[in-house]
Amino acid sequence: MNTVKRIVFTLFQPATLTLIVLFWAFIPASMLDETWVITAISIGTLVMVQGLEFVNERHTGWRLNLREFLTDLFYVTLYFAAISKLETTFAEDPLGSAKQALGITTTWAMHLPFVAQVFLALFVMEFGQYWMHRLMHNSFLWWTHAPHHHITQLNAAKGLVGNPLELFLVSLSVIALFDLPLTAVFCAYNLTTAISAFAHANVRFYTPRWYAFFFTTVEPHSLHHTVGFAETRCNYANAMILIDRIFGTFRPGEAAVVGQEERKRLTIAQQFAFPLRPVIAMIKGERQRSAA
Ligand SMILES: [Zn+2]
Ligand SMILES: [Zn+2]
Repeated sequence: MNTVKRIVFTLFQPATLTLIVLFWAFIPASMLDETWVITAISIGTLVMVQGLEFVNERHTGWRLNLREFLTDLFYVTLYFAAISKLETTFAEDPLGSAKQALGITTTWAMHLPFVAQVFLALFVMEFGQYWMHRLMHNSFLWWTHAPHHHITQLNAAKGLVGNPLELFLVSLSVIALFDLPLTAVFCAYNLTTAISAFAHANVRFYTPRWYAFFFTTVEPHSLHHTVGFAETRCNYANAMILIDRIFGTFRPGEAAVVGQEERKRLTIAQQFAFPLRPVIAMIKGERQRSAA
């Protein structure tokens, strides 16, 4: 084993998170006004992690091919061009207005040190995501989330592959109710993008144990993607695996074979139509009954 490679892939995840925090702590105010900055940095993070797949691959079976690349590219575009905008219009803006109308204030949060503000934002976002994700594995909402589990390989951008309704629901957050500087919220958002990319990437990291205690890595997340529905009911946290440890849903281990049912890969059209499956099955059942 090349020692330099070993060191790089040991430190890469914590070093990236540190750089992200430093970047947002010192970003010039003029750059913050540009709305494209957070999008460009998020996409840049995804591209960087995707690049690592060609340096230290985890499983040859997960290697990115043209079909997978085009699908991932479609979902990255969909997320940043549409879903994140819908999220702002239909969730964050109304919540911000409600906060003002009801006079909700958390001015104490504005006086915290920057790192604590980032941690608070990250925890609030992850807490909501954890429970929404867990609900999806334990209710009819599974029909929206299942397409994400039908992916048959993991790659850096696969966290954004799924039914659009699920992508919208799982990104919902109450962060708009908190008084926090925009830099701290963007920083937390950037951290979740990086950690989620690491947790879906076909990269062999030699993750330090302390990092894997707090943050989601590809091992527990690949186990979450394992074949067999019952086995997926663990390791729900998108970025902060600590939440699974707190609520008793953490399971150690990893999976190389991922997918659902027969491990049949879904097309984008099938991913979009997936939540209609129970409705179609019901209609078919009715027809068969009336024909009998
Ligand atoms: Zn899931
Ligand atoms: Zn996933």
